[in-house]
Parts: sequence; structure tokens; C-alpha cells
Amino acid sequence: MEAPETLQNAIVYFSDPDRCFQYALNLRWPNGVVSCPRCGSENHSFISTRRIWFCKSCKQQFSLKVGTIFEDSPLGLDKWMCAYWMLCNCKNGISSCEVARTLGVTQKSAWFMLHRIRKTMESTGGQLSGTIEMDETFVGGKVKNMHKAKKPKGPGRSGKPVAGTAKTIVVGMLQRNGRVRAEVVVERTHQILHEVATRNIAQGSMLISDEWGGYKGVDLQHEVVNHAESYVKGLVHTNGIENFWSLLKRGLGGTYISVEPFHLFRYIDEQAFRYNNRKGKDDQARFEAAMKNVAGKRLTYNELTGIGAATSH
Ligand SMILES: [Zn+2]
Repeated sequence: MEAPETLQNAIVYFSDPDRCFQYALNLRWPNGVVSCPRCGSENHSFISTRRIWFCKSCKQQFSLKVGTIFEDSPLGLDKWMCAYWMLCNCKNGISSCEVARTLGVTQKSAWFMLHRIRKTMESTGGQLSGTIEMDETFVGGKVKNMHKAKKPKGPGRSGKPVAGTAKTIVVGMLQRNGRVRAEVVVERTHQILHEVATRNIAQGSMLISDEWGGYKGVDLQHEVVNHAESYVKGLVHTNGIENFWSLLKRGLGGTYISVEPFHLFRYIDEQAFRYNNRKGKDDQARFEAAMKNVAGKRLTYNELTGIGAATSH
């Protein structure tokens, strides 16, 4: 059977435990299992009837899931693969309710799965370089549904979100013809924007931003877009990052309805992953790009929900 190209194919393809196992095995260990993920020993044997390995050094068994984002999950690889497929390829994201229905798991399990998958979509790679569009946006707090008395007047000119509006500030940077990167910040002050720019953008790059004062004096060549002028001045525009904001908000507003600010960065990573893997990749290639990051990542339920955060940091 050919490798899957659509969600329907993927569900059928991964429903066969052997095929699913082989596929995942090739992605995780393309050259075969070299060493035990627990102790690093190369002295192990495969128990094919149970699809697990026995390590002769640490005398423990290990499965494909050990040392990956799937570790400790009671759900089968078939379900994980399909959940991955959906999140990588649904343009506006996919809700835990829909994943639960499609895969026959509880909504809570689906929610946890999706967050673990997002964890493997975190942006990697070095700094952005070349021409970079940088911009901020405000996410959350549906103003139109609020009682009039509670309606905010919009973000304060200080750059801080107005108290009680539940608006979260997201800063994004888009390399022309390249990757996007975005993160949540507490305020859009000069100091914070500079820190974000210095960390993410290589020296010698050209920065394009709007006229927001927080960008003044960033240690990069800097062009400012004058939004008061109704036309785009050649290459000096922030249309690329604004396009990303509209994709992000479509996902957040349509699919996810309400996202707590605490979890927002994971939805941003998810949207950025799809954005950065949109060109020249079909659904299968996007799926494999995400699956390659499953090793070495963990996210426990307590970490995710913040339980025990004070003691275990
Ligand atoms: Zn071992």
C-alpha cells in the first residue's frame, strides 16, 4: 500500500498495526535502532510479537514511544499518526472535539494529544536574516460579545494591554521569502521589542516595521511603514506578517473559539509550523516534517496545565 496522501488514506493506512509501526520506525530511526533510548547501550534485541526491544544492559524494555512526545501515552500509534496528520494539514487548525470524533477518543485525550503535537512544532533553526517584517498584534477577548461597560477602548498607548480586556500581545517577525516566527510578550515596550529582535534577527538584516515607537533605535537598518499613506511604498510594507496574523486569527477565532493566554504560544507555534511548511510540501511531506521532531520532546499533563508548576518549575 502506498504511503498516504489524504486524511482518509492515512486513517486506513495507519489502522494496520504493522504498517503503522514500520512507518513510525523509519521516521524515528531511519538507520535502524542503534542504541537504547534509556542507557545508550547497543546491546538489545527486538521482540517482534510485541514490537518492543529488550535492552540487555539496563534490563529494561523500550518501545518506539520511549524518549518521544508519545511516551507514557496509552493511545496507540495509529491514533497519534492520524492526529498528527490532521493538525499538520488543516489550514485553520483542528479542534479537540473533531479529533475526538474522528479517532474515537475522549475530548480530553484529544486535547492533550494536540498540545503534545504542538510542542513538536516549536520553531527551530537559527536567526532570521535578510529583510524582516516585524509587527505586533493583539489576540483574544472578543470585544463584540462583551457588555458595553466592559468594552475596552483598545490597547493603551503605553503599549500595555488594557486591564480586563484579556488581550494578549503577540510579536511576529517574517523573513521575506522565508520563515515566520512569533511569540507572546507581556508588553510592547522598547526594551522587550529590542530583546525579541536581537534574539531572533541576525545582525546586518533590514528591519521593516510600522511607526510604533518601540522599534526606534533597534540596532538594525530600519525602514518604517507609514500606514497613513494609502499605498504600499515599494518593498517597505508589512503585508507578509499581516497575512500571517490573519491566518492565526482565523484559526483562533474559528476553530479554537477561546484559548487561554497561558496556552496561546502553542497555537502560535502550530500556525507558524504550517506557514513555514506550506510551500513545496504536500500533506505527506508536512506530516513527515513534524513527525521528525517527536524524539527528545516531552510534555506531561501537569506541565501542560501548570499543576505543580511552582515546585517543579
Ligand atoms: Zn538500556
